[in-house]
Amino acid sequence: MKARLDHVGIAVKNVDQALAFYRDALGLQIEPPEDVPSQRVRAHFVPVGDAALELLEPTADDSVIARYVERRGPGLHHITLSVDDLGQALARLREKGVRLIDDTPREGAEGGLIAFVHPSAAHGVLVELKQPARRARVHKPVRHQLGKLELITLSDGFFRLDGGAMFGVVPRTLWEQQSPPDDWNRITLAMRPLVVRGERTLLIDAGCGDKLDAKARDLYSVERDYHLQHALADAGLTANDIDLVLASHLHFDHVGGFTAREPDGTLVPRFPNARYLVHRGEWDDATHPHERNRASYLPENFLPLEGAGVLDLVDDGTLVMAGVTLRRSGGHTRHHQVVMIESAGEVAVFAADMFPTTAHIPDAWIMGYDLYPMETLEFKRSFAREAIDRQYLVFFEHDPVIAAGRLRHVDGRRTVERVL
Ligand SMILES: [Zn+2]
Ligand SMILES: [Zn+2]
Repeated sequence: MKARLDHVGIAVKNVDQALAFYRDALGLQIEPPEDVPSQRVRAHFVPVGDAALELLEPTADDSVIARYVERRGPGLHHITLSVDDLGQALARLREKGVRLIDDTPREGAEGGLIAFVHPSAAHGVLVELKQPARRARVHKPVRHQLGKLELITLSDGFFRLDGGAMFGVVPRTLWEQQSPPDDWNRITLAMRPLVVRGERTLLIDAGCGDKLDAKARDLYSVERDYHLQHALADAGLTANDIDLVLASHLHFDHVGGFTAREPDGTLVPRFPNARYLVHRGEWDDATHPHERNRASYLPENFLPLEGAGVLDLVDDGTLVMAGVTLRRSGGHTRHHQVVMIESAGEVAVFAADMFPTTAHIPDAWIMGYDLYPMETLEFKRSFAREAIDRQYLVFFEHDPVIAAGRLRHVDGRRTVERVL
């Protein structure tokens, strides 16, 4: 279990006297007070780094804090540790025979969950465990004009993968600074398909879609409160507007949204008016998987396209539509493609799993998932030089924060200048 210090609660008799020390003498900022009528307490939060002090002032004589101060004088009242999964934390403590005040989580402030551990179990300190409310993260569509083409970044939500697997041979002490892992060592990744509007309306990749079963959704901690359907609507588009759908490769987190399951269970193409473009070699590999890649290729995401007669198998360098060309990178899968988008002298690149996040910018930061890592290295090395020289706008399909940016070489280090 991993716990972070959230705050330290301090019972005070008179908040003005306490502020004379915490605010005036120490010079700390105090947040506006919050009343907690059920406890007959007023809380004054004092941020200190990642954690806070909470000055607790009784608002009535029968409040718990008033009684505490009366009995023991002002002082340390409780410490609060924040955990990812409070239910699991309590189960573990029960198993270890720890005495709890709350056997099950109860509602805390701001939609979070809390539970108290008995002070006798924690060497005289009242310990509050807290699971903060999960805020739904949303990536709204962002438009970017590239010459005569309009690019729109979309979102199919978020998922998590093992941090070690995402960074291959890079030690955790290095990658965890860029991508903080959860209690199961997983890091958060976005799924950001891209629309290109020109002579036609093209969708590149489509996220994991809604066909994953409960076990897979849990395994990958899929968050799709806001998904591709919402993003298309916010971009003023419907599934009917998409003429072309292109796959960088056929892994489930890229093409799960290519098909949908009808109420009667049949699988159909999700975009009824679109032709679907898939690299011929990638199709062969996906339809003949082996032990190392089988978990990533889910046939329900692509086989129905062939059945429906909407599949076009394409080759390296195919011109997808005016200004949009496939370019083989290999590395991640044998036929993994990046997509070059050019108009009026400007160039953008949909890098898919070659630069999944901005943390993968250094040459050697290569995913453990890559089947041909030396090929990835070779591609990244020459491609990064080209992207820096020619000022490409690079799209990072899995980055949880930055949708697109330009690679720069600054003081001997490769960096990303955020654009979207
Ligand atoms: Zn992949
Ligand atoms: Zn991926």
